[in-house]
Amino acid sequence: MRADKLLANTGFGTRKEVKKLLKQGAVTVDGQKVTQASEQIDPDTQDVEVKGEPLVYREYIYLMMNKPKDVICATEDDLHETVIDILEFEDIVRKPFPVGRLDKDTDGLLLLTNDGKFSHALTSPKKGVPKTYTATIDQAVTTEDAEAFSEGVTLDDGYETKPAELYLNEEYPETVTITIREGKYHQVKRMFESVGKRVLDLKRIQIGSIPLDETLGSGEYRDMEEEEVTQLL
Ligand code: URA
Repeated sequence: MRADKLLANTGFGTRKEVKKLLKQGAVTVDGQKVTQASEQIDPDTQDVEVKGEPLVYREYIYLMMNKPKDVICATEDDLHETVIDILEFEDIVRKPFPVGRLDKDTDGLLLLTNDGKFSHALTSPKKGVPKTYTATIDQAVTTEDAEAFSEGVTLDDGYETKPAELYLNEEYPETVTITIREGKYHQVKRMFESVGKRVLDLKRIQIGSIPLDETLGSGEYRDMEEEEVTQLL
């Protein structure tokens, strides 16, 4: 793999920034300085150090993002900005993709990976991993709605949803927390439509036992901790 790709893929900055690192002589391979961005490096068989620290190359990448609104969950799109476009690095080798989808106007917790097994474990309907959202509705949400959701509601296409939990907010009855265990297209919005209500705002705050890192601003992301990944597998 090219030296600049390897460094960019392991979090040492953009291609431009890693080129600077190489020029500065900060990178050694098997003890020899490497200054050319095009130098071929095999991270599995060669010892790579950056500023004297061993570089750890992982095949898989796991990112947690606070997805902003107006950005779509796709890898490429001619019209809209995608969640891949907002990654600051160019990971050509590992190619992360979004785990499941959030609507363009939904924000909050989104995971990205290149690990198909991890993605499957979180999105497969059989696994039923809970996903929790906060929602603002156009009118008060009631205990009747909570009861209906707990039994499953019928969506516009006739699909019967699995039981979902609605946590009502006494002080702000238009604001709720909802946990679902499946991910049909526009599921939360369509569940509220089935009880005659409209979702005005939707944010995902948790997947399984992993909450959105509150320190991530809108559009920010970070590597997931190893324990976070194993907890979800
Ligand atoms: N349900 C929706 O309606 N939209 C989302 O983005 C996620 C769940």
